[in-house]
Amino acid sequence: MSENTVAAISSPMGEGGIGVIRISGEDAISVADKCFKAVSGKPLCSLGGYRAAFGNIVLSDGTSLDEAVALVFRAPKSYTGEDVVELSVHGGTEILRQALRRVLECGAMPAGAGEFTKRAFLNGKMPLSKAESVMSLISARGNEALKISRKAAGGSIDRAVNEITDLLKLTAAGIATYSDYPDEELEGAKISDFEKGLLKAEEKLNTLIKNYDTGKLIREGINCVIAGKPNVGKSTLMNLLCGSDRSIVTAVPGTTRDIIENSVNLGDITLNLSDTAGIHATDDVVEAEGVSRAKELLDTAAVILAVFDGSAPLDADDRSLLEDIRTKRAIVIINKTDLEQRLSPKDFCGFECVMLSAKEGKGADNLQSAIKRVCQMDSLSENDAVLINERQLSCVKEAQKYIEEARTALFSGVTVDAVGVCVDGALESLLTLTGERVTNAVCDEIFKHFCVGK
Ligand code: GDP
Repeated sequence: MSENTVAAISSPMGEGGIGVIRISGEDAISVADKCFKAVSGKPLCSLGGYRAAFGNIVLSDGTSLDEAVALVFRAPKSYTGEDVVELSVHGGTEILRQALRRVLECGAMPAGAGEFTKRAFLNGKMPLSKAESVMSLISARGNEALKISRKAAGGSIDRAVNEITDLLKLTAAGIATYSDYPDEELEGAKISDFEKGLLKAEEKLNTLIKNYDTGKLIREGINCVIAGKPNVGKSTLMNLLCGSDRSIVTAVPGTTRDIIENSVNLGDITLNLSDTAGIHATDDVVEAEGVSRAKELLDTAAVILAVFDGSAPLDADDRSLLEDIRTKRAIVIINKTDLEQRLSPKDFCGFECVMLSAKEGKGADNLQSAIKRVCQMDSLSENDAVLINERQLSCVKEAQKYIEEARTALFSGVTVDAVGVCVDGALESLLTLTGERVTNAVCDEIFKHFCVGK
């Protein structure tokens, strides 16, 4: 048994064209040679890296479990940086289970959660932020989410953080010089230089923090609540966005009594939609409960899609909803544009408005750009790095706190060495983010959240 060689099913469990078992470690190739027999008769150990062989997974009694293709990677040119063999078999749950059992019988250990990516990080194949972006890449549900994950995988986070650490290292060096020659006004070693460097670093950290919230909306989907009085077309809008009859649409007011949820892609973005009970004054106990749940949702939604019937003038229920959402992130939807219009955006001063006909499916395209605008997704530029998890955010926030302290210390009459301590603290936090200073415990904690096989 090789302690160092691990194996796991790396493709999702379910029925598919192929399924993959990945083996990594110094004995990966010899383990694979025990259970895989190539049709050519050549053992895998005779192959170079990036070579494939077609053959069979052979069980201990000599029978064939399934046909397979073995792909050989030689260290360090593999995902993990170790010798790797990937066995592609037919993608069936039982085939994959038995193939993995056979690989383990032949000497590999079961891989832990995220073990392949962890090994890639430990073997210097990728920085920590890139390893983390693998998770985000795999779970991306919309094109925008895929774009930011791909940028992170391409090293955008490390580049952004390195720019900040360079500034801080320069400031730290200046502080050291100033401590030795306080009266000499040397270039880069003046109080005004430290202030400039710290301000610039803080600005960059603030941008990372600001972009995090937008990135989170992109990655996890935007929680949108569809609200409005009964019969304005909320369920019809929900169905239009979902492309199915998920909500019941009838001409009887108050049909949606509870909350109906669905996650959909609207163009580039993912929306987590909730269709609510019509918000209006009612004596019906069941309906009142639905109304109160809908109102609760208004407080937690990232975006409220407030629907109004464009063919009827505003009434007391409409005005009360407008008051409820005035201070929230909301988009007014003037629905039923296929009918004669009694409402226009002028009736909704201060709100982002979209006019559409949910019934005819016309105008919904404008909704995507309106949501992007209210969520300030447009402010995210092509080159902006977006942090992809809470760990990275907390490292950046910690660094920001240290820099704030450093700037306060700079003008509070304490020795400049105290400023240097804060700058070192900020550097430490950022090096933890990129993984240069990460402890084993932190490393284990990060990869624990990966799935087995990644
Ligand atoms: P909800 O109570 O707000 O969920 O409203 P529904 O979606 O159940 O729609 C109520 C009624 O309005 C139904 O008869 C729909 O067919 C109709 N309706 C919804 N959207 C439109 C639209 O854009 N144009 C027209 N003419 N009727 C619509």
